[in-house]
Amino acid sequence: MDFFKRFFGNPDSEKKHSRNEQGNSYPKYNYELEFLDALNKTPTNKLFGLNTYWEGRYKELLGNLSPILEKFLSQGMLEISLKEEALKVSELKKILNDNNLPQSGKKEILAKRVFEEVADKSYAANLIPFYKLTQKGQDAIDLYRENFFKEYYNFQLNQADLFLQKNLNELESNHFQFRELHPDQRYLLGKFDSFGERAKSILKKLCQNEGFRIKWNFLPEFEKRLRVLIAFKEIGIRLFDEFKNEYLKEIDLDELYPIIQGNPERLNFGSKEEFVTNLVNFEYQYFWNQGKLQEIIDYRKSSSNFRFQGIQVLNDGCECQAKYGEEKFTWDNIKDLPVLPRHVKCRCIINLM
Ligand SMILES: [Zn+2]
Repeated sequence: MDFFKRFFGNPDSEKKHSRNEQGNSYPKYNYELEFLDALNKTPTNKLFGLNTYWEGRYKELLGNLSPILEKFLSQGMLEISLKEEALKVSELKKILNDNNLPQSGKKEILAKRVFEEVADKSYAANLIPFYKLTQKGQDAIDLYRENFFKEYYNFQLNQADLFLQKNLNELESNHFQFRELHPDQRYLLGKFDSFGERAKSILKKLCQNEGFRIKWNFLPEFEKRLRVLIAFKEIGIRLFDEFKNEYLKEIDLDELYPIIQGNPERLNFGSKEEFVTNLVNFEYQYFWNQGKLQEIIDYRKSSSNFRFQGIQVLNDGCECQAKYGEEKFTWDNIKDLPVLPRHVKCRCIINLM
């Protein structure tokens, strides 16, 4: 039985074992608050500032948006503000004066008065209204994000367990079902409902305890977590850094730091603040290249009209460019292919040529 079947099972039987049947293990998005946040984050000068994609997507999730906007306004989570830059103070005062309205107050007040009270609405057109989040609105979003993260963290912990149990099938299924719940599904268009062959081979290597780029002597608990983090980096989980920080909370980084810095190759993984990030990226880079190499070898074996001459190392944007230049390896001297990455921030990748 090949590895794909062993670790990922039959795609047809996969759906029967989905987590949906077991209920609510997915973190729940609050679409109203996601909408509120999206309104706030979209740089706009229009009252309804979302682009058509987002507007359409939130209509799909929430139905008619007008009552929701009204509710946010009446609850004081959102306010209508004016783009005051559109008119100068002197211009605002002149308009108010011409209309026998008071000219006192800050620019904001003057603009609001012109917008609301001047009969000639052509001035209002120059004061472009937009929705602005209030402190109350921001607090509601912050509280939601905090609670969401707790649920999200538990969900990803469950995913980590599945990975460690080598249950990649269920991990994959959960991953995509959860992603479908996110308001922004643009990246789900097309065929992105499975990890893809390379990612699968990388996950497989990782959970089979294949060796790291450096022959580390890690604390077992850290090694386990490092494997999970590399896997999660490969499959692209949301809130990766937040997850990583929480996931490594129980690891004594003071104890770990000298172990990392004392690596046999004497590679410098940076300061105490950044060494974990550098280490995850470094070992991830290694597994990625191993996965790519595996993919090339398999492809070469299986393809009858394979016409590539060998492998090249692409090292743009990395110090290896100056040091090693353009490296090409024909199938005969493939054994000379360097082990990548060569240094901590190496960005070299292998490619067919
Ligand atoms: Zn490099």
